[in-house]
Parts: sequence; structure tokens; C-alpha cells
Amino acid sequence: MTQTRIYLDWNATAPLRPEARAAMTAAWDVVGNPSSVHAEGRAARRLVEDARAIVARATGTSARNVVFTSGGTEANALALAPGLRRPGSEPVQRLVLSAVEHPSVLAGGSFDDTDIVKAPVDAEGVVNLERLHDLLRDGPPTLVSVMLANNETGAIQPIPAIAGIVHEAGGILHVDAVQALSRISCDMNELSADILSISAHKVGGPKGIGALIVRDDVAGLDPLIRGGGQEKGRRAGTENVPGIIGFGAALDVAMERTGVESGRIEALRGRLEAGLANEPGTVIFSRETARLPNTTLAAVPGMKAETAVIGFDLAGIAVSSGSACSSGKVQPSHVLAAMGVPVELARGAIRISLGWNTSESDVDRFLQTWRTLAGTLGNKMIRTGA
Ligand code: PLP
Repeated sequence: MTQTRIYLDWNATAPLRPEARAAMTAAWDVVGNPSSVHAEGRAARRLVEDARAIVARATGTSARNVVFTSGGTEANALALAPGLRRPGSEPVQRLVLSAVEHPSVLAGGSFDDTDIVKAPVDAEGVVNLERLHDLLRDGPPTLVSVMLANNETGAIQPIPAIAGIVHEAGGILHVDAVQALSRISCDMNELSADILSISAHKVGGPKGIGALIVRDDVAGLDPLIRGGGQEKGRRAGTENVPGIIGFGAALDVAMERTGVESGRIEALRGRLEAGLANEPGTVIFSRETARLPNTTLAAVPGMKAETAVIGFDLAGIAVSSGSACSSGKVQPSHVLAAMGVPVELARGAIRISLGWNTSESDVDRFLQTWRTLAGTLGNKMIRTGA
């Protein structure tokens, strides 16, 4: 008998929410182009603007601040540009980013490599505020980019404190909130963030749609894609109407259920980590700091993550390694490297990320498989000195 598969890789992407599927199914029959003035066009525009209002509500902003993009990567690329400025002030000249950012931020947008500076993190993966303060002191106008929650460890950055430091130095703060959206508050007023990136597919919306939210007191946003004047001239191209509708529908239900879902998921994560803690040698990263309720990054010394991920897959469980695979070569995670985790341990890091349809029995089956794999691939080698 084939066992049902268990999906524990929600930070990579989340399954489509039924509400988003239903809204998108209906959206295929929307005929008009939102820029057209006739009734069909106006109907499409209304649906796009309804979704924009949901995104604005979820981020504590106004609809005029929301720019739809093709996802989190494009939102980050659009945000990271020299030329951003406070009205009446000099444009930013350099980019300071945390060492644990997503590759789409580490790429630095349109900044020259020589104008990019990395801010270090501590052993829990949290930005070192004193070092950030020192980096910004007496420097040119600076754009700072720090994620709200890390995609590998789930560690949450102290964004309001970071915003205080950035603003005191006259800088602008961009926050990549792709992993945080609907899991914890992404209200830009609470965060004091100036620019925020989000993506639909992490909240149960479709892949390939996201948004950049830009507050009114940030000027100089230069479009990456030029053409028609869509998105108030900030991102040209006919809007991805079904994608935007699906994003709105998914985010609406995700926001409505945040409290209930996050509490249940955190309890499941507690069950998972209690089980992992029983396994000798298992290390859970960023455990001493605030984390997303759904994320665990764990390693067993001696275990190779890429082998373990295949082992889990064969056992019917989807998880991911904390290592990035580029050009066929598996590199240890830059996040764990920045946290000072030894390469040998980092190579064994497995990310388990839960979501709204994860059950207790999923967690228990994962733990059972972990015990088998860790015994075969991990600390058994240590016990035998291999
Ligand atoms: N930022 C973070 C923190 C992410 O985890 C991801 C996706 O994994 C992205 C940005 C990119 O988002 P998208 O897949 O929508 O391009």
C-alpha cells in the first residue's frame, strides 16, 4: 500500500489555498484588460483593486502604496536601487544588507558590488545592532535591507529597533517580509519599515505574483520594466489579473486565520522539536531567539543533508536541506556560515517547515523517519568513530 505523501517544505512554497483556487478559476472568465475604459476593463480593474486593498490592509498601508510584481525576487530587485530618497533629500548611495538575506537581496539589485556592505549577525542569526549602528555612522545616505524572518532558520529580526538606527542615520529601510507574511504581523507602521517585499506563493496564493509596498515618504523608485504606465508608472505590463486575484483571495483568508493557524502550527512545531531533542546530538538552530512559528532548522553531526533529503523523499516526506545547490555543487548555507556554524554541522542542516494542513501524525511520521535516518546517516557514525 502506498503511503500518502507528507509536505513539510512550506517555506519553499505553500499549497494553493482552496479559496485562491476558486477565485482564480472564476478569474479566467474575466475578459477585460484593467487599463481598458469599457465595462469589461472596469470589471477587471475592480478585481485588481480589491486585491490591492487586501494587500494594503495586511501591511498596514494604503492601496496607492502597493506595486504588484512577479514575486518576491522582482520586488527585492525593484527595491534595491540607488536613487531612492526622502523627498527633499539626497538619494541613497550605498546598500547595507544583513549577511543572512535571501539570494535575491544578496544580489544587491542595481547597486554596484563596491557600494554594498554586509552587516554581521550573531550566533542566533540576528543582526548585530551595534555593528549596524557603526556601519551607518558618518556614511553617505544609505538603503538598508534586512529581512523580517529568515527562510532557513525562521529567525525574526528586531525590525523596529533596526528602523530606529537606520532612520536616525537618515537612511531608508527595506524589509523582505516574504516568509513573514500572514505568519506574523507585517504592519509597516508597527515595523517602521519604509519599503516591504512580499510574495503570494508563501501564503497559499499562486506562484509568480508578489508586491512591493512603498511608503509615501520614499521617492525615486525607478521602474525595472518600462512601457505602459501600469502600477502608477512603477512596473509596466498588463497586470497578471488571475495571479493578483489569487494573491488577494489567499492573503485574505490567511490573515483572517493567522491567530488560529499560527497557534496550532506552533504547538505542532513544539511537538516536532521535543521529539528532535530526544535524538542524541541533534542541534536546532536559532532556538534561543524569536522565530516564525512554523520553521525548524536542525542538524545531526555527521549527517549529510542532501542524502537525508533523498532518504525523506523516498519515505514519502518532502523537506529541504539548508544548503543551496548552485551549478550542481552543494554549498553549505550562507546563513549558517554567517552564524559561525561549523561547515561539517551546517552540511547536515534539514529545514522542516509546517503549514495549515500539517497534522500531528505528519509530525510523528517525520520523527520516526528522522530517527531511522539519523541512526543510519548521522550520529551512528560518531558513535562508531567513523
Ligand atoms: N525572499 C525570501 C526571504 C524568500 O524566502 C523568497 C523565496 O523563497 C524570496 C524572497 C523570493 O520570492 P519569490 O519566490 O516570490 O521570487
